[in-house]
Amino acid sequence: METNEPIISRHNRHCLQCRSIAHNETLTTVEMTLQEKQITFTQNIARLIEFAYDSGFALTFGEVYRTVEQQKIYVETGRSKTMNSRHIQRLAVDFNIFVVDDDNGSVVMLFAPGIDNAQYERELAVARPLGDFWESLSPDNVWGADWNRNDLNDEKFRDPYHFEMKP
Ligand SMILES: [Zn+2]
Repeated sequence: METNEPIISRHNRHCLQCRSIAHNETLTTVEMTLQEKQITFTQNIARLIEFAYDSGFALTFGEVYRTVEQQKIYVETGRSKTMNSRHIQRLAVDFNIFVVDDDNGSVVMLFAPGIDNAQYERELAVARPLGDFWESLSPDNVWGADWNRNDLNDEKFRDPYHFEMKP
């Protein structure tokens, strides 16, 4: 049934202040302000962390907020390709990702520096549930191992540690 009722309302915006997830989700992402996106993003990162630990992963934090000055250094040194990084907008987090061995409790880091393509493919399959879960939380959520959200390993710039929300 069609309705002309606006999806967003003053009521919803007020309720965002009390951190209600339910009300927050009634906003369409197109209509959200940057601050509303930042708040939703952070809430969703909490969910991602819970999901990861429930699914046999462990995480440690890499970078979250990044200054423009820091980003300039990364672009100049080739570590990043863009001055448009979501990290500058508080809409991206990098995690170090580990798999926990149930038998002995040891942790193995995924995507360690220097792994070859075949190993990357194997580890990508292991980590994909994290990316899938992240994408399921919002149509604007993107995983750095699948920038175009097509579930294929066809990225020119691989960043499997990176989870972002488009502004
Ligand atoms: Zn990142």
